[in-house]
Amino acid sequence: MGLDVPGLERLDVSGKRVLVRVDFNVPVDEAGAITDDTRIRAALPTLRELLERGGRPVLLCHFGRPKGQVVEALRVDAIGRRLAELLGAPVQKLDESIGESVERAVERAAAGSVVLLENVRFYAGETRGDPELAAAYARLGDVFVNDAFGASHRDHASVSGVARLLPSAAGRLVERELAAFRRILESPERPFVAVLGGAKVSDKLKVVSSLCERVDALLVGGGMAYTFLAARGVAVGDSMLEADRIEDCRATLETARSRGVELMLPSDHVVAERFGDDAVPESVPGEAIPEGRMGLDIGPRTAERYAARLRDARTVVWNGPMGVFEWPAFRTGTEAVARAVAACSGTTVVGGGDSVAALHLLGLEERIGHVSTGGGASLELLEGRELPGISALSAG
Ligand code: ADP
Ligand code: MG
Repeated sequence: MGLDVPGLERLDVSGKRVLVRVDFNVPVDEAGAITDDTRIRAALPTLRELLERGGRPVLLCHFGRPKGQVVEALRVDAIGRRLAELLGAPVQKLDESIGESVERAVERAAAGSVVLLENVRFYAGETRGDPELAAAYARLGDVFVNDAFGASHRDHASVSGVARLLPSAAGRLVERELAAFRRILESPERPFVAVLGGAKVSDKLKVVSSLCERVDALLVGGGMAYTFLAARGVAVGDSMLEADRIEDCRATLETARSRGVELMLPSDHVVAERFGDDAVPESVPGEAIPEGRMGLDIGPRTAERYAARLRDARTVVWNGPMGVFEWPAFRTGTEAVARAVAACSGTTVVGGGDSVAALHLLGLEERIGHVSTGGGASLELLEGRELPGISALSAG
């Protein structure tokens, strides 16, 4: 699968305008202040290398969902200021992403500085992958680098579109992400154990199927577990259930069985009467959930079974929390699994926005082999799919 990409070293960047797609889609508070700059930091190795090699970086990024029009609150000025602090180099933020005045500003930019273009999603053609918009970006660079792993599953003008028009390569972040996933997908050391959770089973069925072809054990928790339990004929009360996916879950259970994959489901639960941050947790010691109750976390016995299965694993991939970890009363299962993954001495990879947020909350990020910066992109890699922003590079 397309995980082999041309690296930054293949591009001659000295004195050249290097158009770089980055993922600066950072979380902000109500006042617009950046609350977590992990994504900006993640781009620094590539930007530092380009500057050291005499390149003139011109950055393309998106921020929020302006839906093809200018939204003042979604301008990227604050991101540019933070980047300048972290990089220790001047960053010139422009108020547009294409056009003659942008081209002139890029021409005039001083050596050793970085140009940051405006939010690309102000342009309606961006998410449509408009070739004319891609061509307008291409006029701003001599070469192109994709370092936006988190946007690489998008067939957008600034991701795959422009990559097809210029000599292109993957940046260091994209390279590191792909290497981590290549290692677990192509030649995993065994036992290989996957932990899958999160809200909707419909989001994760393809990942489950793909992983069934690769892993020795698959531990299922979170909201998605109840549709699997229902497929086995277990009562799930008012838990999150996607009735139209019960058949798919049944087929997946059968596939796992026929392939000799140990697919584990929760055998006890933490439940509540309703969904709310003041919901009162109650424990249900068996598999079945009584009527009028919803499962919001895996129970302690399940957490112990899952942790035990992770103990001798040599490769672990985790996507999706085991319960509503945002509320402390329903965080125990996610915490137990996160600690077991962190304690594993083999190769460990965690992907998924909420799973990474849970790790962050628990202070365990440092103890994980690879924490992915891309939620959707990492899921698509686990599904065994090609990412448009990556295959376009190989083509260029
Ligand atoms: P990720 O971003 O890691 O891929 P998802 O987006 O699939 O994960 O799912 C995360 C969400 O799932 C969290 O907001 C969490 O509260 C929710 N969730 C987990 N377990 C349950 C459950 N039992 N009932 C309802 N929601 C759940
Ligand atoms: Mg999520």
